[in-house]
Amino acid sequence: VVTLLAELISIGTELLLGEIIDSNAAFLAQQLKARGVALHWKTVVGDNLGRACEALERALGRADLVIVGGGLGPTDDDLTREAIAAVVGETPVIDEGYLAQLRAFFESRGRHMPAQNSKQAWLLPSSEALANPIGTAPGWLVRPASHPGKMIVALPGPPTEMKRMWREQLLGRIAWPVAGFYSRTLRTIAIGESHVTELLGALTQAANPSVATYARRDGVHVRIAASAPSQDLASVLAAPVIEQVEASLSRYIYGYDDDSLAQVVGNLLKANTQSVAAIESLTGGLLLDELTGIAGASAYVVGGAVTYTDQMKVQFGVNPATIAAHGAISRETALEMAEAARSRFGSTWGLATTGVAGPDPSEGKAVGTVYIAIAGPMGSHASELKLIGERRTIKERTVFALLGLLWRNLRGEAQ
Ligand code: ATP
Ligand code: MG
Repeated sequence: VVTLLAELISIGTELLLGEIIDSNAAFLAQQLKARGVALHWKTVVGDNLGRACEALERALGRADLVIVGGGLGPTDDDLTREAIAAVVGETPVIDEGYLAQLRAFFESRGRHMPAQNSKQAWLLPSSEALANPIGTAPGWLVRPASHPGKMIVALPGPPTEMKRMWREQLLGRIAWPVAGFYSRTLRTIAIGESHVTELLGALTQAANPSVATYARRDGVHVRIAASAPSQDLASVLAAPVIEQVEASLSRYIYGYDDDSLAQVVGNLLKANTQSVAAIESLTGGLLLDELTGIAGASAYVVGGAVTYTDQMKVQFGVNPATIAAHGAISRETALEMAEAARSRFGSTWGLATTGVAGPDPSEGKAVGTVYIAIAGPMGSHASELKLIGERRTIKERTVFALLGLLWRNLRGEAQ
């Protein structure tokens, strides 16, 4: 078994001071784990040559693969190349081919290349350039003569450039301990994480394939991951476990991997040639925002309204007596709002939200008391939710709970 020990160094004063979050390191750590690479240390260091060198030296002393992120830009505080050159004791030389490419990049934008950008065309005698088709600076893969058997990788800071370089340039250049990795994420709605864990039982205790649950704003995700000598074998290993998870959670699984609930619901509406409209109070338009976040949503989203005051709810069709008797935050009002959405906008389905986003209670109802309602061809239905979290969280959870309700109605297994 090949073992490989990696270390991550993120360079940037913005990272150090907490102005941006080190999400690149999180991505890389997950990627390394998936390939069987051990990671013992991760360092964040500011834009400082001496300290960057110190971090690099220390990492080279204890890891086989050192991945440095950021600091590949053209400015004086972009020092990653300088630091690597110093630590491996090599002198950078300008690669004329890259320099010509850089010049062409600027010229294609009608600009002259500033002189300082020429350092982005540097290479070391022991470094290989990693192409960066969506940015200016290539990355580096260094196999330094000064540290036999070790590798240093330099990746750009901007996450899209970094990820693309990682996938397209690096994955194929390094002999990873785990050649085959397979993972699948099952996305559920209308079930809590503890209930999911309970239904999965002993499945979550196995190491390979592993089964892990994540509570996300759009429901609980269940990730099944397997490692094996090849990707095909890994997927074969994962298959029966995926089936077991599907069997345990079938009523709640709306999609896989990158599927979104709004997309899944949209596809069902389109397939049924049905439409939807919403009258929102609590969610203030967030529900329609989520529904219309999908390309082609005009095929099934008719429209909607945000009725935040009682008066506006009445204007859109809620009976004032209902509000007087039960309050604007009530099952009864939610139902009438959903029915009004359906009749006013002439859609197959009408959706509605009302509730207390906090931080203060309202109408004597506790923060997180939410009513969602759906009106459709078979009648209407409202549910009470008791949500926890701050305003934004409560609003977002409401949106996904209601999309989940619509999804279940569209599958014909309502309420
Ligand atoms: P540039 O040519 O844009 O200067 P660079 O390779 O020098 O690229 P940095 O200057 O370190 O990279 O970072 C550029 C931007 O990339 C940062 O402002 C930040 O938005 C993002 N970024 C950098 N490092 C990280 C990180 N570790 N995690 C997430 N985003 C990052
Ligand atoms: Mg920079």
